[in-house]
Amino acid sequence: MGEVVRYTYRLRPGATAQRALIAEWDRCRFLWNEAVHQQKLGGKPSFSKLSRLLTEARARNTWLRTGSQVAQQQMLRTYGQSLNHSFAVKGRGRPGYKARKTTKPSVEYTTRGFRLIDGRLALAKGVTIPVVWSRELPSLPTSVRIYRDNLGHWYASFVVRREIERVPEAAGAIGVDWGVATTATTTDPEFDLPYRGHRRRCVAEVAKAQRKMARRRRPKGKAQSKGYLLAKRQAAAIRKKAARQNLHEARVWARRVVDRHQLIAVEDFKPSVLSKTTMARKSADAAVGTAKRELVERGRRAGRKVVMVRPAYTTMTCSNCFARAKQQLELAERTFRCHACGHSDNRDRNAARVILAVAERGHTSVDDVRHVQPSSGSVAGAVRAGNPTASGNR
Ligand SMILES: [Zn+2]
Repeated sequence: MGEVVRYTYRLRPGATAQRALIAEWDRCRFLWNEAVHQQKLGGKPSFSKLSRLLTEARARNTWLRTGSQVAQQQMLRTYGQSLNHSFAVKGRGRPGYKARKTTKPSVEYTTRGFRLIDGRLALAKGVTIPVVWSRELPSLPTSVRIYRDNLGHWYASFVVRREIERVPEAAGAIGVDWGVATTATTTDPEFDLPYRGHRRRCVAEVAKAQRKMARRRRPKGKAQSKGYLLAKRQAAAIRKKAARQNLHEARVWARRVVDRHQLIAVEDFKPSVLSKTTMARKSADAAVGTAKRELVERGRRAGRKVVMVRPAYTTMTCSNCFARAKQQLELAERTFRCHACGHSDNRDRNAARVILAVAERGHTSVDDVRHVQPSSGSVAGAVRAGNPTASGNR
C-alpha cells in the first residue's frame, strides 16, 4: 500500500548530458508537433493512431531512432491526455505546437528508460547525470520527468510509492494565527514560526533587480537588451531561493507541530483578500501560504484533527471571556485588552487562543461560539474548560 508522490531533485548535468537532453527534447517536440499537425488535418487522433504515428515516424526518420522510444511514447501519451482533456473541458483550446524558443525542455521516462547507478541518473547511450540527493528516495521510482526551469536549472521529478508515515500519538492541542511580522503565532510560544530576516533581505534584493529592469527596459515592440534579461533572471533567482528556504522552514516547523498535537486549529487565512499591496507584504503572505499548506497537509496525513477556523473577529475577541471588542484593533496596536474582564495579552497570541477555543468547542467560527453563550466574564471558565453544558445553563 502507501501513497504515490513525487520527489524532486536538482540535477547537475555536464555539457554532454545537457546536449543529449536538449536533443531528446527536440525529438519529442518534433513528434508532438506532428501529432498537432495531424489533429488539425483530421480531427481527434486516437491512442492507437498516435502509436502508429510513432512507429511510422521512427521507421522513416533515422534521427528519431537515435532517441529513446520510451521518452517519445511518453510524449505522445501526454499529448493524447492533454487533447482528451481539451475536449472534456468546454471552451478549452487544443494543445498547440511547441516552439523551440518558447517552451522549456521536459522529457519523461518510465522504468524501461532510466536507471539509478551509483547515485547517478543513467539514461540510454551512456548518458549519466549527477543527482543532488537532498533527501532519500522512499522506494524505487516508477518514472521520472527531467526538466529545465526558467533559470536554466535542471531537475528530476521521480514518481515513487511511499509508506504512510506512522506519527507518534499526541494529546496536545494548538491554535495557529497567521501574520506578517511572525508567520505563525501559536498558543504556545515554543511553536511560533518567526518571519525570517533573509526573506526581508530578499525583498530588498528583488526590488533592486526590478529597478535595474525598469532602467533597462526598452519600448514595447523592441527586443529587450541582454542587461534587461540578466536583471530579470536575477530577480527570478532570488525569488526562487527565498521560496525554497520558506518551504524548508515550513516543513521542519509543520513536522514539529504535528508530532506534538492531536488537535490543530488553524486560522483559515486567504492571502488574496489581504495582499495586493507591497512586495514585502506579498512575500510575507507567501510564507504564510506555504506554512499553512504544509501544516494542514501533514496534519491530515498523520490523522490529526485539523480544524479550519474563519478569521472573522478572532483578533477582536477575548480569549479569556469571549467578549468582543467594539472596534477592530489598529494594526499597530500589539496588545489586546479586554474591556469586560480586563484580560490583556499579545494581540496575535490572544487570536491564536481564540482560534483554539473555537475548535475545542467543535465550531469553526467565533460567531458560532457566541450564539451558544452570552459574552460575560462569568463564562470564561466554561470556555477554557471546553464544557458546553455549563455555558448553556448560564
Ligand atoms: Zn475578557
